[in-house]
Amino acid sequence: MNKTIIVSNRLPLQISIQDNQLEVTPSVGGLATGMKSVHAEGNGLWVGWSGITDEDLNETMAAQVDLKIKQAKCSAVRLNEADVADFYLGFSNRTLWPLFHYFTEYTEFKDKHWEAYKRVNQKFADAVLDTIEDGDTVWVHDYQLLLLPALIKEKKPEVTIGFFLHIPFPSYEIFRTFPWREEVLAGMLGSDLLGFHTYDYERHFLSSVKRILRLDVNFNEISYYDRIVKVDSFPMGIDYDKFYNSALDHNNADTEKSDLQKRLDTHIEEGDDKKFILTIDRLDYTKGIPNRLRAYEHFLTTYPEYQEKVRLVMLAVPSRSEVPQYRKLKRETDELVGRINGAFSTVSWTPIWYFYRSLPFENLIDLYTSSDVALITPVRDGMNLVAKEYVATRTRQDGVLILSEMAGASKEMNEALLINPNSFEDFATALDRALTMPLEEQQSRMKILQKRLKRYTVEKWAEEFLKSLEATNQMKEIFVSKKLRTNDIDGIVSQYKKAKKRLVLLDYDGTLVGFKNNPQDAKPDAALLKILDALEGQEITSLNLISGRDRGTFEKWFAKKPYNLITDHGVWEREKQQWNALEIVKTEWMANIKPILESFVDRTPGTFIETKEYSLAWHYRTADPELAQIRTIELNTVLTSMVSNNNLSILKGNKVIEIKSSNVNKGRAANHLFVKNDFDFILIIGDDWTDEDMFEAAPDTAITIKVGHSKTIAKYKIKAPEQVRALLAKLV
Ligand code: UDP
Repeated sequence: MNKTIIVSNRLPLQISIQDNQLEVTPSVGGLATGMKSVHAEGNGLWVGWSGITDEDLNETMAAQVDLKIKQAKCSAVRLNEADVADFYLGFSNRTLWPLFHYFTEYTEFKDKHWEAYKRVNQKFADAVLDTIEDGDTVWVHDYQLLLLPALIKEKKPEVTIGFFLHIPFPSYEIFRTFPWREEVLAGMLGSDLLGFHTYDYERHFLSSVKRILRLDVNFNEISYYDRIVKVDSFPMGIDYDKFYNSALDHNNADTEKSDLQKRLDTHIEEGDDKKFILTIDRLDYTKGIPNRLRAYEHFLTTYPEYQEKVRLVMLAVPSRSEVPQYRKLKRETDELVGRINGAFSTVSWTPIWYFYRSLPFENLIDLYTSSDVALITPVRDGMNLVAKEYVATRTRQDGVLILSEMAGASKEMNEALLINPNSFEDFATALDRALTMPLEEQQSRMKILQKRLKRYTVEKWAEEFLKSLEATNQMKEIFVSKKLRTNDIDGIVSQYKKAKKRLVLLDYDGTLVGFKNNPQDAKPDAALLKILDALEGQEITSLNLISGRDRGTFEKWFAKKPYNLITDHGVWEREKQQWNALEIVKTEWMANIKPILESFVDRTPGTFIETKEYSLAWHYRTADPELAQIRTIELNTVLTSMVSNNNLSILKGNKVIEIKSSNVNKGRAANHLFVKNDFDFILIIGDDWTDEDMFEAAPDTAITIKVGHSKTIAKYKIKAPEQVRALLAKLV
């Protein structure tokens, strides 16, 4: 039976060892809840780290831990202290976390951490590969495992892989500063579906993919070699009913009150105008805590009427205290709270109640249900679940949420009071507005917020993601139906070996060599020449390179090689070292078209014109992809009116627009080759749509192969030049 494997840095288990006694309890966090039914289903498995390093476990205890983990349908990835220091506290929390949250000044780029990140991602891959089978689905979570999708895909191309990033994906301007940007993007692109919390993170990611890897993106689909990678946003929700029902219970007069609640009540009971403003965060610099405290101070100063009436209840949950910036933040927060309390406190009132600890669920509910206002103002936050939890506990639909625009949650919580967390003015006005908001308005806002959260819960989020992941399989089938498999290759090789007269037609760029920024850099390398020489050496094989390249370039590259060459899309043929024109073509039009192309080059940095004997090509591989997209549309419009009068056609190649005579194409040239001899084996390989003319002209018995994933009339598809070379090597 096919299974779903969930992979995250930590397993959804709390494991503790006290006096040689092992205790394992399930985690109650949002992700564990969302994944619950996926994990419980069939052979579902969760792969992750237990939270205990190898050094902290003796062999007997390790075996016991493994057993307990297995019983919980989990599989442990073993990490040692060095892994935790360099991969987790190092690369994950001192590189990726600050960088992706726009804290570039906190971001460290250390080779040692990067090496550990690669090593540990490989450990996770090994653990997954140990249990995975074709037909399984893998769902990888979060920034600690960005390389994992590709590591799995490489070994198991037939499994379906989804990845969800729980933190923001930064804009290209930030991401491009990252030394390992290509590797990380390639790691993520091992997935079939990539999920983000918001559309903004999705478009930032796509922008980096376009600009850094220069890949083609069509809406939210990325063409990646022979695959399509889909990108989408899925805003993570919460276990709404759990929070709502706990709040109902809590508000029930018969429920016994906690000590915390009794303490909160002493303030509330002082009068109707006594109000609580709640803030809850992990003590993380992304949460904007010092800034919020200063803004609160500004509020108390500009609206002195609230002094002795409102109280800020601030829960800061200890986090990552091994990292220096977090320790600094703790000191700063303590000092600020001390200073503000010192400056404003009276005999009966302190403006801030500060808790530095993690509270049990019941106490969180005490805080949520007792607060009139929730002030959630991160400077950068992937989603922020606290904001959603506060809303879910408002069973009377009162209360006001003030939320930072910089939290992912703000995108779907328009009925909150949204503020810019860098503006003290915004803080003060929003607090005043929240504290004086009529109950009716509070309720109408809360009602809409609750409705959405109740519908799009964390279970629904997981369901939607998996549904979308499943749908990528249908896209895959379109490719898979033509994919050149091992048995197809064996068949081709045996047919080839048996044949008496063989014709081989090979396109060059994108087929035998990958694309380069400068087309002149795509010179044939020694390995390629070796394969071509061997094919040429077979007496019964007629080898032909057929390309849109100009004959000058091919003559230079293949001067000493005896191969048959067809250049300029079929204008010239070199046979036995002699160049002959296959077509008579006019070139007067070039004088009119070239100035137009030049004006596009002037306005589009990174583009250039290639002047061939019979055509003009405008290359835009190194231009900004979005600017290039606009310019190609413009250029197309300008050229369309001119080409029809001159019997020219516009070819849209791979990051190039080429203008050439209409009556020249590779199909006509191929036809000329087909009839040259009585071939009993024809092989044609090409990558772009100029090659489709060859595929179309080919006799039914020919073997036609398209490089890449896009639509084709060829019989087979193959991944990339590397695989083409491997196939050709089998023929020699
Ligand atoms: N939380 C908790 N104990 C506490 C305070 C908070 O378990 O003492 C939970 C809270 O209910 C929420 C999560 O921690 O589910 C914080 O998630 P959020 O998305 O707001 O921030 P993150 O910590 O993931 O950056």
